[in-house]
Amino acid sequence: MEWRGGRRGGNIEDRRGMGPGAAVGGVGVVGLVAAAIGYFVFGISPEQTLSAIEQGGPVSQQEGQRGTPQDEAGQFVDVIETSTTEVWTAIYAASGKRYQPPASAVLYEQATGTGCGTGQSAMGPFYCPADQKVYLDLSFWNELETKFGASGEFARAYVIAHEVGHHVQNLEGAMQQAQRQGMRGEDSGAVRLELQADCYAGVWAARAGTQAGGGLRFNAQDITDGLGAASAVGDDTIQQKTQGRVVPDAFTHGTAAQRMRWFRAGYEAGDPAACNTFSARSL
Ligand SMILES: [Zn+2]
Repeated sequence: MEWRGGRRGGNIEDRRGMGPGAAVGGVGVVGLVAAAIGYFVFGISPEQTLSAIEQGGPVSQQEGQRGTPQDEAGQFVDVIETSTTEVWTAIYAASGKRYQPPASAVLYEQATGTGCGTGQSAMGPFYCPADQKVYLDLSFWNELETKFGASGEFARAYVIAHEVGHHVQNLEGAMQQAQRQGMRGEDSGAVRLELQADCYAGVWAARAGTQAGGGLRFNAQDITDGLGAASAVGDDTIQQKTQGRVVPDAFTHGTAAQRMRWFRAGYEAGDPAACNTFSARSL
């Protein structure tokens, strides 16, 4: 994957080395619940974020350093985030709409305050609809490789594009739709939402190699790495690994096969119209 020639939009908020924000007291929980669900790339369910918020309350956010980071790992996130903005701006423009990118991609270490409660590394990368930010602890890239066996830069790019996919869903009202259809189980709204975010990551990949999409360069191995990552974060893969068995009723993200299938559907079509997982009869 060739990304170094890609554009850097600087929509990054760097909180690395800042430590977690302090808890804010006195804010009612009830009104927050609907908005304060985080969307992850694997494992943790929105229900679990809810319980974290009920225990801890919302947390204040320390503003990190804005702009393009100096280090290569930070620049990688900047280039991918910028490319997603270019791709989605073009898609929105084609139907006469204006795309509003995420408020920022936040880089943090260990824990940080978010509009969805305290973000923690163990959660993996996530999107918080309440503040419209993508949260990433870059130590996840090591975990992706060692724990999930998904290697290659493109696997990382897929994760970022998936989280930005959740942002697009937030703009489109898909999250509310998902919540009406249940947050757990193989046919749930949560699974449909996650598979759509995978499909959107595929749409990004299809267009990111074009000049309008940021001028990144991918090869066949990159797409294989992306599919490998989608498979590695499948509910069945993770459950088998952590519990030794597969429990479809507890699915929140879809199986490895489904995640690959929807990423590929987006990649082959290059069009979000191919991503309507909510009306798909079979996932
Ligand atoms: Zn997700």
